[in-house]
Amino acid sequence: MQDIEKRIAQLKEEKNAVILAHYYQTGDIIDIADMVGDSYGLSRKAKETDADMIVFCGVKFMAESAKILSPEKKVLLPVPDAGCPLADMVTSSDIERLRREYPGSAVVCYVNSTAEVKAESDICVTSANAVDVVKSLKEERVVFVPDQNLGHYVAEKVPEKEIIPFSGYCIVHHQVSVDDVKKVLDAAPDALLLVHPECTPDVVNKADFVGSTAQIIRHVQQSNHKKFIIGTEMGILHVLKKKNPDKEFYLLTPKLYCTNMKKTKRLDVLHALQYGSMKLRSRKKSWNVRKKA
Ligand code: SF4
Repeated sequence: MQDIEKRIAQLKEEKNAVILAHYYQTGDIIDIADMVGDSYGLSRKAKETDADMIVFCGVKFMAESAKILSPEKKVLLPVPDAGCPLADMVTSSDIERLRREYPGSAVVCYVNSTAEVKAESDICVTSANAVDVVKSLKEERVVFVPDQNLGHYVAEKVPEKEIIPFSGYCIVHHQVSVDDVKKVLDAAPDALLLVHPECTPDVVNKADFVGSTAQIIRHVQQSNHKKFIIGTEMGILHVLKKKNPDKEFYLLTPKLYCTNMKKTKRLDVLHALQYGSMKLRSRKKSWNVRKKA
């Protein structure tokens, strides 16, 4: 195991590479990464480095986003079939159809979408800035793709606009139920409930705090509270426990496990560095992400 780690470090140096790990990766991957974060934050940070190569431990749309922001760098996804079902739920032909159905509307896509969908949309948002960006648009009607739950969350926070959420959903967060919330609150009644807006509106409405993975981590660090129920993918617990050894964490439900995010192993990272894996091409049309979080 140590040999793999050593070899990864050597190859990283030789190839002038940087390893990025999303918060939902396994602890094993997080521990060898140069940067850990959420998808857009990582792509932005990687762009600022002078690395020639980015190894993105995450899912395909994340590596695509890194390539869009750093077209001059080689971007590798260690497991080429690590995809995101949510991102694949909307296609560019859906966008064309929605534009015909809702003429004059702004088309806003969540960063969890394919490069093709981003290129067809008017603007791209993260779960952290979706509310602010939608508020800032001049259009009164907004088509929001692909996540219906984030779309509903935005609609609730921006009642002055008409939001048309697409029907997609994250297969991990969408399955959390109010019953799961009830059970965990029975076990830890004095814990704060923090959830991701990819959860359904009935779960979101029960939360003490709703935010992206990075916002949940920040909230825990800034809070004086000692116990937290975490309503997002379980990988985040590794980082939360490391950063807050004095605090207690409960996972909202064991269902919060993304198989695609857990596909990457250290050997895949080694192989990617050694032989290269799926190389990502930059798309012709770029997309916008408002920087304000
Ligand atoms: S947790 Fe959901 S949105 Fe994230 S990669 Fe897995 S399926 Fe996609």
